[in-house]
This record gives sequence, structure tokens and C-alpha cells, in this order.
Amino acid sequence: MALYSKQPLSIYNSLSGKKEIFRPISEGNVGMYVCGPTVYSNVHLGNCRTFISFDMIFRYLRHLGYKVRYVRNITDAGHLEDDADQGEDKIAKKARLEQIEPMEVVQKYTVDFHNTMAAFNNLPPSIEPTATGHILEQIEIVKQIIENGFAYQVNGSVYFDVKAFNDSSDYGKLSGRKLEDMIHNTRETSGQGDKRNPQDFALWKKAEATHIMRWPSPWGEGFPGWHLECTAMSTKYLGEQFDIHGGGMDLKFPHHECEIAQAEAFGTKKPVNYWLHANMLTLNGKKMAKSTGNNILPHEMFSGSNPNIDKAFSPSVVRFFMLQAHYRSVLDLSSVALSASEKGFRKLMQAISDTHKLPTTTETTGIDIANWEQRCYDAMNDDFNTPILIATLFEGVKFVQAVSDGTQSITLKDRERLHTVFIHFVFDVLGLSEEIQNQDDQHLSGAMKLLIQLREEARKRKDFSTSDLIRDQLKEAGIELKDGKDGTTYNLS
Ligand SMILES: [Zn+2]
Repeated sequence: MALYSKQPLSIYNSLSGKKEIFRPISEGNVGMYVCGPTVYSNVHLGNCRTFISFDMIFRYLRHLGYKVRYVRNITDAGHLEDDADQGEDKIAKKARLEQIEPMEVVQKYTVDFHNTMAAFNNLPPSIEPTATGHILEQIEIVKQIIENGFAYQVNGSVYFDVKAFNDSSDYGKLSGRKLEDMIHNTRETSGQGDKRNPQDFALWKKAEATHIMRWPSPWGEGFPGWHLECTAMSTKYLGEQFDIHGGGMDLKFPHHECEIAQAEAFGTKKPVNYWLHANMLTLNGKKMAKSTGNNILPHEMFSGSNPNIDKAFSPSVVRFFMLQAHYRSVLDLSSVALSASEKGFRKLMQAISDTHKLPTTTETTGIDIANWEQRCYDAMNDDFNTPILIATLFEGVKFVQAVSDGTQSITLKDRERLHTVFIHFVFDVLGLSEEIQNQDDQHLSGAMKLLIQLREEARKRKDFSTSDLIRDQLKEAGIELKDGKDGTTYNLS
């Protein structure tokens, strides 16, 4: 029997505003779509939190035995500078400023994104489609929405008719907004360009002469609106109705609201069953913003090179820190909080490696392991409550310490079970990895590279006393240099 049938999972659904028992459309299978990055700059830490949250959700669903198809897109066209369909395309603007091709911008920041995701130990999604790779699918959806009477064409652009849609459905059902209030609160009476109403949004935009990224369409040369790509790619890979749609809280409106409207206007009754939103990350109590300097990039976090933090923190520690908060709560990042997490992380890792060495008894175990394991599941089954899970795991850490001290006892069988539960939840579900050691290795290899290079330069200028000194001193420190035909390597003795 699959684990999921024994562990009913409840998920907070942003659409209903309450926790619901998770029931996938097809038994044993889950379709999950998460809005990915717009690749015009380095991924910021707030976005990383969103992707770590959904990685944890992906991992837990897999752990429960579901076959999960996880689709996370790359936005490489169509994302304009503001939500009102104004301004330049973010990628085209960067390309203009850096005087490179838009696809060079896309390539550069997609690589950065993938490297950062790997550093955080996020599993790759099952499919990672791009907006530019799905222009035809997007055009087909626009045609259908026009035919269904929910979009109109003006001067080479196509806009979604929010009012017409709202007459037969409910625009605002996800974000809890009412169209009447939106209309009432809009100050502008004219000046929205070609739109009939300011709430309308672009499905297709006409490309002006200077716009570099453009494709032919039935309405002339242009490019798709940002919201459209997610509707096209989610339905293509997960079907017109699928289980989970996720993203950052900031995408709820207008992006996700527009996605629902598009899919319904296309003809799908209820495109998504469960909407999940991950909350914000703040820095030192304030919203992160490039303009104020209250901002930090992942690589600055790992190297400690940002003035907002006192020292470097490994990706695993940052991940652990983030998972100590519930994904729906706002989380504030600071050096003090990260240092506390680092201590906790090391304690947890130490306890796991100590588990194997615990002395065993043939009598009884001083903790009910089955009950402890069930409480770990209970935490995760309650809307992926990782802070409660981590607190429960620390009960296990305390127990390991007590057995080490001789104040508690454990049987061999229970010791193995204890270790398995740690492995399942710490490594498989939370996705933590022992990276601190690796980071030390990285520092060592960097320093060694430099010493080998200095010795090489000394030898070239026939300064053998210096080159021998480097070799001998390293040997004394337990590091042996070996000169081979491909250069010098080193061994720890
Ligand atoms: Zn999206």
C-alpha cells in the first residue's frame, strides 16, 4: 500500500481560504505547476525561498509515493516592467542596456538560476518549458478566447475583456477582490491606450518598430502577454485541469487571477484544484529592495560578501533556516537568526552521524520511535508544517544525546529505525545536505591552488629554496604535493 493512502495530507488552498484534504485528479499521480523566474537578472533570495518551499512540497509528495509531474517555467519573453501592460520587456531592456542579444541575457541568467537551485539542493523539475518555445500554443489560446467572446483585438494587440468575463464568472475569486471595487478605485478614466477598461490585460501585444523580440501572429507581429504563457504551458503538460498551482504570494494578483480567467475563458471549468502561495522573505525587518541596498544575492550569502550579514552561510544552512518557518509565513532574515540556525543545523547533522555509534541494549528503547515517526508525518500532513517537523526531529536529537550519555537506552532494531526516520525527513523531505564539510573542502582547494601556483612560479624563476619550503611546510602540515605530467596535485596524509 502506498504511503499516501495511510497519510492523508491537508493543504491550505488559497482559492477557498482553508485547509482541504488533498485528493489528486488521478489516483497516485500529481500534476504541479510553479511559476518560474523571469531570467533578466540574478535570482534573488526571496525567489529562492519560494522555490525551496515548492521543492520541499515536491519532495514530500514523492516521499508519500505519488508520481509527480512538476512543471516550472522560464519566462524569457513577454514580462513587461509593470503589471498594466506598460513599459519595456524586462529582458529586451537588459539586452539594450548591456548591448547583447536578448537570448544572451536569457542564457546568462538561466545558468545563474540553475546553479543557484543546485546549490540549494533543489531537485530539477520534471519539465522546464520556456515562453518563447510555446508561442504557437499561446496564439491558439488567444484565438479560442476571442472566439468565445472574452477578448478583443485593437491595433494589432489583443486584450482580455475582464468585464465580459466577470458577467459570466467571477474575476477576483482567488485574490478576494471585486471587479466593481477595482473599477471604483481606478482614477484614470481615459489614457489606458487601446483597452476598453483599465482592468483588461494583454493577451498579445503589438511589437513596436524598436521591439526586438517579435513573432508573426494573425494580428500582426507581436509578442505574448506574460500571464498567457503559464496558461499555455500548464495545460500543455498537465492537462486543462490539474492538481496544484504554486508561486510567490506576490503573483496571486494579477498574474494568477489572470491565469484563472484565461483558462476559464478558454473553456476550462476549474483549471486548478489547489492554489498554493509561498510568503515573502524580508531582510533585517524590511522589504528587500535593490534601490535601498536592503538586498542580498545568494552568492553573496555563501561568500559573506554582503554588508547586511556578518559572515558566510552555506546553502544548506540557509535552506534549513528557511524551512524553520512555515512556507505561508513572512520570514525575516538576519545574521543573528542565521547563526542560530547554523548551530541547530550542525547539532542535527552531528546527531544523525552519531546514531550509528549509539550503544544498543537487548531490553527496551526509552522512546516510542513509531509515535515519534508518526508525529513527523502529522506535521508534514498539516499543510507541510516544516517548523513543527524540525521541532519534532530535535526530540530525536535529544534522545540520541541521552543514549550517548547513558541516561536512555535503545535496541538495535530501533536504532536502525531512528536512523531511517532521520534520513527520510532530513535528507529526502527537507532536502538538507551535509554541505559544511564540502564548503571547507572548497576553501582548502582554493588555498591549495594558490600555493601550487606560487611554487610553480618560484620554480620557473629557479628560486628552489622557496619552492622546497612550500613543499616541505605543506608536508609538515599533512598535505603532500605530487608533481605529474598534468601538473601538481595534492593528497591529505
Ligand atoms: Zn506564471
